[in-house]
Amino acid sequence: MTKTKSKIDVITFPKKKLSEQPRCGLCGKRVNLIQTDCCGNWICNDEHKYITFSYARNSCIRNHRRFTLCGYHNAEGHKSNWKDCTECRQSFETEMYVWYGTNEYNFEMLENPPAYEPTKCSRCGITIKLGTDVYSQLGNQYWCEECSALEMKKKIQEHKKKQPIKM
Ligand SMILES: [Zn+2]
Ligand SMILES: [Zn+2]
Ligand SMILES: [Zn+2]
Ligand SMILES: [Zn+2]
Repeated sequence: MTKTKSKIDVITFPKKKLSEQPRCGLCGKRVNLIQTDCCGNWICNDEHKYITFSYARNSCIRNHRRFTLCGYHNAEGHKSNWKDCTECRQSFETEMYVWYGTNEYNFEMLENPPAYEPTKCSRCGITIKLGTDVYSQLGNQYWCEECSALEMKKKIQEHKKKQPIKM
């Protein structure tokens, strides 16, 4: 009566081989990988994809190196672990510190990130996410993308008024 059961038990998949093949810890790709200097994780060796001054965030290795505490901590030659590094903590305002430690370019997230007041646009009061939004900063004033653009326009118009129109 129970003979059919054993059939299912016997099937084992050769899972091991698949998981041994390294994957990029950020996007999961398996080709053209390199181990990071900072934490030894496998990552896409794709820095060539990045175009200088493009501000694109399409390179896994660059994103990890430039936009995480792990990468920063290593590049600055800090001691011990980035997660409890006081130098890292002091290097950034809290919002950026938290973003660097918890964004999607991390292999491991910062545990218990400190609380912070959200940054607001000094002009219209909208919340600005310093890690991902476009904004401009002057001293301790922050301007959202829209307000920055409006102000820029105003400045250009004022400038034009002062200039005699050339034909
Ligand atoms: Zn990747
Ligand atoms: Zn790292
Ligand atoms: Zn550090
Ligand atoms: Zn604004």
